[in-house]
Amino acid sequence: MDHEAFPGPLGETVAGLSLVDHHAHGALRGAVDRPTFESMITEGPRPHSAGTAFDSQVGFAIRRWCAPLLDLPAHAPPDEYWARRSELGQEEVNRRLLGAAGTATYLIETGYLGDAVLTPEEHAEVSGAAAREVVRLETVAEGLLGQVDSGRDFVAEYPSVLEEASRLAVGTKSIIAYRAGFDVDPQRPDDAEVVQVVDRLFGAASGAVRVADPVLLRYLLWCGVDRGLPLQLHSGYGDPDLDLHRANPLLLMPWLRQVEPTGVPVMLLHNYPYHREAGYLAQMFDNVYFDVGLGLFYSGSQSVQIVAESLEVAPFTKQLYSSDAWGPSELHLLGAQLWRRAISRVVGQWVHDGEWALGDAERVLHLIGHENARRVYRL
Ligand SMILES: [Zn+2]
Repeated sequence: MDHEAFPGPLGETVAGLSLVDHHAHGALRGAVDRPTFESMITEGPRPHSAGTAFDSQVGFAIRRWCAPLLDLPAHAPPDEYWARRSELGQEEVNRRLLGAAGTATYLIETGYLGDAVLTPEEHAEVSGAAAREVVRLETVAEGLLGQVDSGRDFVAEYPSVLEEASRLAVGTKSIIAYRAGFDVDPQRPDDAEVVQVVDRLFGAASGAVRVADPVLLRYLLWCGVDRGLPLQLHSGYGDPDLDLHRANPLLLMPWLRQVEPTGVPVMLLHNYPYHREAGYLAQMFDNVYFDVGLGLFYSGSQSVQIVAESLEVAPFTKQLYSSDAWGPSELHLLGAQLWRRAISRVVGQWVHDGEWALGDAERVLHLIGHENARRVYRL
């Protein structure tokens, strides 16, 4: 990797890091039109009427860092970028951008719009990286709900179906924050309660059942704890249909007190704008880890500040790198590129000021860039 992009005393170290991206999704499988692409570079529910999605930090970052990889000058205008991207085709764009990210291993969550993006195997092939799977608890439940016809059968079968679905996975993931919020009852619901809820859902539903009931979501969460793999929780920013204030990870404290004795690692994903809260929880709970993915590419040049804030109170052994990219491979590239730039600038300044020793700074880059993930997920 070109270390010109990472000036300062840590430039070479950061350029050479083989990252583990502990939370990502596959790159786009096929070509999309420009409105679709623009809708994929914002979390908003629809393209906003005030102009193009390129007029944002992520849009500017795409033009700065991705354009040269498509043989254009840095900062090429959106129309030129789009024309060149279309000319090269999705496969070639994926090959170039994923190849340049310098990510050695992706942990890929397969539960979200899986048909539109590459499978973990395909993503690995095109990026030249390794890929391991993370299984979404709610997706497994929705699959099972399509096969059984009573709450009793659902409760009897879910744990073994989850076991089988995650046989080769390195982690599980819950989206309880999207569907209910973290301010739910922290207790494990008893089986009779879950049976009742599922029977009621079957009674009311025509067609596929969507898992959104808080009792059912809590049941799945506790089944995730029982499964014993690192359990990822979507937290903070990242979906138009969530009530953001209910996705503040501090609301999880009563639940975390119950889970901590199990030793199951709880991985708080992305967290923005609650990354400081997540860092606090990582200090308070032995089994809590966090990342600042997603916030990095959406904040572009301002990601330096988010990375600085992520290094306030959290132990350096409790933070992981992630992109949380989904779809356009620009996002996989930017996650890595902007994190490398931000951390080398933030920590490099402390080395420059004589506050940190160079050797300690290099060690922290390795911890967050890949070692913490390899230890926690046993990669
Ligand atoms: Zn995600």
